[in-house]
Amino acid sequence: MQRLHQLTRIMIGLDLGLPETHWRQLAQLFHITPHVMAALAIGLAALQPWLNGQTGPVSFVACLIALQLSLRVFGQIAFRRRRDHSLTKWTRIFAILSVASGLCWALSLASLYLGGTPDSKLIILAVGCGIIQSSAARAFMSPAPMLINIALLMSTVSIAAALEGQWMMALICLVYFLFQLTYLARLSDLYLGEILAEYERETALQQLADANRKLKQANEQLARHALTDGLTGIANRRSFDAALNAAFASDTQAPLSLILLDIDHFKAFNDSHGHQVGDDCLRLVGSVIAEVLDGSDFHAARYGGEEFALILPGADAFEAARLAERLRRAIAAAELGDLADAAPSISASFGAATRTRADLSPADLVARADRALYRAKQKGRNRVAVDGDGDIATA
Ligand code: GH3
Ligand code: MG
Ligand code: MG
Repeated sequence: MQRLHQLTRIMIGLDLGLPETHWRQLAQLFHITPHVMAALAIGLAALQPWLNGQTGPVSFVACLIALQLSLRVFGQIAFRRRRDHSLTKWTRIFAILSVASGLCWALSLASLYLGGTPDSKLIILAVGCGIIQSSAARAFMSPAPMLINIALLMSTVSIAAALEGQWMMALICLVYFLFQLTYLARLSDLYLGEILAEYERETALQQLADANRKLKQANEQLARHALTDGLTGIANRRSFDAALNAAFASDTQAPLSLILLDIDHFKAFNDSHGHQVGDDCLRLVGSVIAEVLDGSDFHAARYGGEEFALILPGADAFEAARLAERLRRAIAAAELGDLADAAPSISASFGAATRTRADLSPADLVARADRALYRAKQKGRNRVAVDGDGDIATA
């Protein structure tokens, strides 16, 4: 049923495949070359009648053909300069121009045929057949208008022949028309198969592109999940290790600092408020860190348990200590009220270390920051300790 519907649309010329194919076919249909050829052939066919003194019919034919050619030239120019990009509209304009051309040809050939000599009639019939074959060859792109053209040509020549008593010509034209009709139906059916294959290929390509896009999104999401801590939403330990190694590899001369922070008495916090509130607390600390680092090139990660780590490329010991102190204050001031009934405030201890020698490894820097953190804990917690230095700030 759908094939029949599509075949009908093809016959009317409303479906010439994908839009770009349709426009390409229309550009060919609007081309004037076949019309110039037809005009030349009709001109040659008119030569003998003109020499025989049939100046009246020949002048009429000259006017008709001039009108037809002008219409086609105008049509081609208008099509090339079109601003209106409606396929249906231009397909209809083509159909109208095509039928008008057919009418001009039919009237021209019929008026040359009437009263012509047997020789000139033969030439006129040959020119008519040539025009019909040329139309039929292009008919797969727009069968209905072409069919109308062929019918017009044959019926007018048949009428002209019948007027001169040659009834057999009408019969021959009818057979010829039926022959063209079956030829066109076969051509259109083949063309329909081609159009359907084109649509199917396009749909398959689109499905493939969609599947690729979804796969890419899924891969990106997977990669994000592999590097993100599920609880806090900030980077995880795997991401931290990769970022620290990358920071060490990228510039061995620039300063590079590391901060480790550990929430104070978190076990006790869990014991008194429950693990779920403990989880909320970890999320809160994660968001406070993300907020403080927002807009910087620093990399924050959940190092493990209630410990977080910050990589500070380009930051020296002073900057690292200042940032740690800012974070310490922000965490101590974080609103825990929503997390639990009468929840106590939390605090964290910080250990900061800076790469002082080029031969220091990532593991060395982590060990130094860890040692500083241990000192901060020992000195009473809720404070910042700097590697190779004393506390620089306390609560
Ligand atoms: P300190 O001040 O010395 O760091 O004491 P602390 O209690 O914080 O340290 P400790 O290492 O004894 O306890 C860490 C606690 O952190 C124990 C563990 O239950 C808790 N913890 C680790 N990961 C999670 C987590 O994902 N969720 C919750 N709710 N608690 C966690
Ligand atoms: Mg700990
Ligand atoms: Mg702790």
